[in-house]
Amino acid sequence: MAFEGLGERLQATMDRIKGKGKVTESDVKVMMREVRLALLEADVNFKVVKQFINDVKERALGQDVMQSLTPGQQVIKIVQEELTALMGGENQKLNLAQKPPTVIMMVGLQGAGKTTTAGKLALYLRKQFNKKPILVAGDIYRPAAIDQLETVGKQLDIPVFSLGDQVKPEEIAERALKYAKEEHLDTVIVDTAGRLHVDEVLMNELKNVKEITEPDEIMLVVDSMTGQDAVNVAESFNDLLDITGVTLTKLDGDTRGGAALSIRSVTEKPIKFIGVSEKMDGLEAFHPERMASRILG
Ligand code: GDP
Repeated sequence: MAFEGLGERLQATMDRIKGKGKVTESDVKVMMREVRLALLEADVNFKVVKQFINDVKERALGQDVMQSLTPGQQVIKIVQEELTALMGGENQKLNLAQKPPTVIMMVGLQGAGKTTTAGKLALYLRKQFNKKPILVAGDIYRPAAIDQLETVGKQLDIPVFSLGDQVKPEEIAERALKYAKEEHLDTVIVDTAGRLHVDEVLMNELKNVKEITEPDEIMLVVDSMTGQDAVNVAESFNDLLDITGVTLTKLDGDTRGGAALSIRSVTEKPIKFIGVSEKMDGLEAFHPERMASRILG
């Protein structure tokens, strides 16, 4: 299960301080040393860990006395609040256009779960907001990608716009947008090419698609299992495309959690969704507070 190691370690540390009627500076220091190790072991970015520890320490040592809680409980509450803040505080919603169609551009490396997430998002938007989405097959380099998207579309009964693999993604996106307007489809979800690594050709193509479609949402899909790499990928994509949101996939696996805890702080862009299964209904809105509670048990 995701966050198992981190959760266990943090919970053990918190248990030690929970009942304390008096928390000394040295108690806080010892505890924060444990928290620091737990976070580093969970593959959280070291700069993020450093800032987090400083923030918690500062608050825990200078804390306002709350009558309803023991000092130990107060420190735990601070850790929980800071974990929540680290992941962005409030849930951030998808950007929807004032005037339809909303354009969502899916970006990410190959295998991150982009095509799957495109389908999941389409289903989510239809279910939650009664939207009429269309999926656009813009990944023309991976032979199976178009078929995969068409299979997803058929399974969900959502239209798929494809022009095969001989037309440039920029043109596919442009024509898809025109088609959506004609057919009164209000949400255009554009799947784009992924590569094994971030490279210039990929980024230029994505920049062109962005320019042509003026997306309301540039959704970066990253695989939580890749830990620090996911954070580096997020940084690169954000530098070049100015992404608007992140979907973190495969949180149903035994990811250590580093990406979930670092991405927001490193990129200043919110995680909006998490992927929690391979199935089409395995997409959830990301709630930092719930995630912090889940980690702390
Ligand atoms: P793409 O290359 O980025 O388009 O990636 P795909 O959408 O083809 O996904 C790659 C693999 O990851 C597929 O086997 C998906 O079923 C799987 N996958 C995607 N999201 C999730 C998730 O949230 N949980 C799990 N367990 N598997 C996922």
